[in-house]
Amino acid sequence: MGDHILTINAGSSSVKFALFSVEEGAELLVASGQADGLGAAPRFRTRIAGGEDSEDALNASNHDEAFRVIMNWIVTTFADAIVVAVGHRVVHGGLNFAAPAIIEEETVSQLRSLVPLAPLHQPHNLAGIEAALLAFPGVPQIACFDTAFHRGHAFVDDAYALPRDYFDRGLRRFGFHGLSYESIACQMSSIDQSRAKGRVIVAHLGNGASACAMKYGRSVASTMGFSALEGLPMGTRCGQIDPGLVLYLIEHEGMSVAELTRLLYEQSGLKGLSGVSSDMRALEASRAPQAQNAIDYFVHRLRMEIGALAATLSGIDALVFTGGIGENSVRVRAAALAGMDWLGLTLNHAANIRGEMMISDAKSAAAVYVLRTDEEAVIARQVIETAGIRQGSRNPPFDGEDLTRAAR
Ligand code: ADP
Repeated sequence: MGDHILTINAGSSSVKFALFSVEEGAELLVASGQADGLGAAPRFRTRIAGGEDSEDALNASNHDEAFRVIMNWIVTTFADAIVVAVGHRVVHGGLNFAAPAIIEEETVSQLRSLVPLAPLHQPHNLAGIEAALLAFPGVPQIACFDTAFHRGHAFVDDAYALPRDYFDRGLRRFGFHGLSYESIACQMSSIDQSRAKGRVIVAHLGNGASACAMKYGRSVASTMGFSALEGLPMGTRCGQIDPGLVLYLIEHEGMSVAELTRLLYEQSGLKGLSGVSSDMRALEASRAPQAQNAIDYFVHRLRMEIGALAATLSGIDALVFTGGIGENSVRVRAAALAGMDWLGLTLNHAANIRGEMMISDAKSAAAVYVLRTDEEAVIARQVIETAGIRQGSRNPPFDGEDLTRAAR
């Protein structure tokens, strides 16, 4: 079957993977899947390109076990695949990583030092790297960063108004979801090249949510900042709040750092506001008034951020919805665009309901798109560029037999 690249995206309760064949330096998706619900009701879902989807209960209670199940599935399903490199989604690259990096021993310790900046994500990313290093000894592992896409921001977009040495020490805004934004920038350049070069706002609305302002396909501002808490409300994360509230909780309610971390990362956002669920589908289906309040709040903040990013860009040529909510929620998209004609955004309601790729009306000055993000393809592309992979070249060789060993 030739050379392949494996991508790993290890999150808090899921491990997503994709297998790409590499032909003439370009990636072609062969299979993808995920082990999700880890720690609750684990499931294993797989999809073979041009073939079957499958879903089963998963016998794995942690990430290591999930990783073994994934490896085992790959080697039994694609016994002839030769994995020549593994690409990892890494949420935080800090100040040092503005581009994908080949993982060496000191890279792992550098990435570990960033755990406090992304406590919900970075430890799982590192666990994925460690599992892959064990499973594929000698095979190049590449870290692909969510922060890297935003590293060209102007000072005013990255700074907080704290004393200047805080900025110099790296206590600044970083921005996340960069792999998703790169995927959208890439798709936009083939769908609508002239607007892609212009003022584009992308709303990545999934369990994590942020929005990004781009010019020439590059990030100029992001709603997420120092940590993955800032900006839009999310499934369980609070989004923007007044830091004075955090001080109050410490001083007057005696909350510890651990309690605050749980509150802000795990008990807030859609889940906290609704008391029903962190899942937008469940909220849309619920009749509880609090569920409706939570959706209204989500939309309200989204509209505010679109306005703020449009001000940063001095206007808008295209708005793109992506992520699970952005790609699927007719209601959120419609509510976000209601009365936005002043900004040149007019919705075509029928196209929105039909789930078309372009959902703006003919009289809309700016185009509105719904695009499926493909972070895995971005990782595979970054791996090809970083590891210098060409068809037939492998360093070092890694064949089906090695894969079988790796899965044991
Ligand atoms: P993650 O950030 O974990 O990758 P996703 O991008 O898969 O998350 O987005 C998950 C969110 O998308 C959940 O809130 C889910 O309810 C929402 N979602 C998925 N499908 C729909 C749908 N048809 N309608 C509304 N929301 C949806």
